[in-house]
Amino acid sequence: MKYDYDLFVIGAGSGGVRAARIASLAGARVAIAEEYRIGGTCVIRGCVPKKLLVYGAEFSQQFTDAAAYGWTVTGATFDWATLRDNVQKEVTRLSGIYNTNLLKAGVTAFEERAELVDAHTVKLLKSGSELTAERILIATGGAPQLLDGLPGLEHAITSNEAFLLPSFPRRILIVGGGYVALEFANIFHGLGSETRLVHRGDRMLRGFDDDLRAHMHIETERLGIRLTMKTTLTKIERSGEALRVTLSTGEHVDTDQVLLAIGRHPNTRGLGLERAGVQVDKYGAVVVDEYSQSSVASVYAIGDVTNRVNLTPVAIRDGHAFADTVYNNRPTPVDHRSVPSAVFGRPPIGTVGLGEGDARHSHGEIDIYRTNFRPMRNVLSGNPERTLMKLVVERATGRLLGVHIAGEDAPEMAQLAAVAVKAGLTKKQWDSTVALHPTAAEELVLLREPVASQAQ
Ligand SMILES: Cc1cc2nc3c(=O)[nH]c(=O)nc-3n(C[C@H](O)[C@H](O)[C@H](O)COP(=O)(O)OP(=O)(O)OC[C@H]3O[C@@H](n4cnc5c(N)ncnc54)[C@H](O)[C@@H]3O)c2cc1C
Repeated sequence: MKYDYDLFVIGAGSGGVRAARIASLAGARVAIAEEYRIGGTCVIRGCVPKKLLVYGAEFSQQFTDAAAYGWTVTGATFDWATLRDNVQKEVTRLSGIYNTNLLKAGVTAFEERAELVDAHTVKLLKSGSELTAERILIATGGAPQLLDGLPGLEHAITSNEAFLLPSFPRRILIVGGGYVALEFANIFHGLGSETRLVHRGDRMLRGFDDDLRAHMHIETERLGIRLTMKTTLTKIERSGEALRVTLSTGEHVDTDQVLLAIGRHPNTRGLGLERAGVQVDKYGAVVVDEYSQSSVASVYAIGDVTNRVNLTPVAIRDGHAFADTVYNNRPTPVDHRSVPSAVFGRPPIGTVGLGEGDARHSHGEIDIYRTNFRPMRNVLSGNPERTLMKLVVERATGRLLGVHIAGEDAPEMAQLAAVAVKAGLTKKQWDSTVALHPTAAEELVLLREPVASQAQ
């Protein structure tokens, strides 16, 4: 045979594993290489361990709220090592399942780094062997962005290390304003750290609907997380056991941990794409067409490394669609519109479709339906957390363009709302659904009158 394999996948994360399995089950001879741990970002140091930490962090508020329901919770203490180690046990279990599934599908797995030699050849760095394949799939994901050149950068950690901290920080300073920064602020705050979030922009969660952003700002501050906007770091120094951070305002902050969550870049550095002639954009993302094919016919790329929509279910869809297109004779483009997403802050966010600003820009006249209320769950306890719900509707057609929720269970609601948005349902059809009482979600189908449409 001309090549060692039909397909060589670089990166055993969400997308790479799915593509490898489906291609192999379709009869292709498939190999995959993973330089860290099989399962990738989501399973090892992303969605899964993060959500488990979020669950852990929620108990502190629940203990407080419990009093109004007659419970006495005394002497509750938190032990980081227990949570960290239990989360890691689950991560290891899941990684094992991914490994087994690859084996069962007949995929050969190499647990080492792979780089491109040319458009049909990869080199395995540990063993030094070179292998050829008819096609190569780049599924190397993304990596945390660092503040290159910041004095004392070596004292900071990223989300990669946050899951494995040897001890729990009494104080933490988180840098960034995206969803990862906010989620970690919520986690550390909930687990008991004095938490401060420093962001260079004037508001968190760029890309989300403006009302949601404003709501989260208010709610996050109300929780007791200190927000410092329009500010950057100029220096980190060790100061005994602790760290001393200098901000662009000149302020000094003493803290025990600095966590950088300022974004992620496509993981293509040192991959050898230039040797194969594969085109990347200015962020280093592999440029692909709707079938995930790169500028070189034998090289494809899926998931975060293409920087389209950087979420696990999208990487999995991309990987599956690639395998169906190439190995199951079913050309399948992936539609990256109306992908729901969540932010596990307090309250959590669930959102799908266009925000008000984007909708106005692309669709002209729109109607906004909005409500902001204290959910029943918080009435007895006096917990001041409020829920925001918002619908964005195209005026001419009545079509639902976006559903945005910040409140308890918002991510669960957004998954179902996404069905309606994706299906192109109108507000009238949405409203014809009878409410489910008593829930918070029922408010979504009871929004009768449009409000003044500018963001709060
Ligand atoms: C803290 C955090 C929280 C997140 N939370 C969510 C969430 O709640 N929901 C959600 O949908 N998404 C979430 N994400 C995003 C999600 O993890 C990614 O979108 C998803 O993992 C992308 O899958 P992928 O297959 O493209 O890449 P990855 O899962 O990143 O996999 C790429 C793999 O390639 C390996 N690799 C890289 N280079 C090489 C090489 N040269 N040789 C061999 N192996 C290599 C890497 O080690 C990695 O295992 C989160 C991300 C982070 C960082």
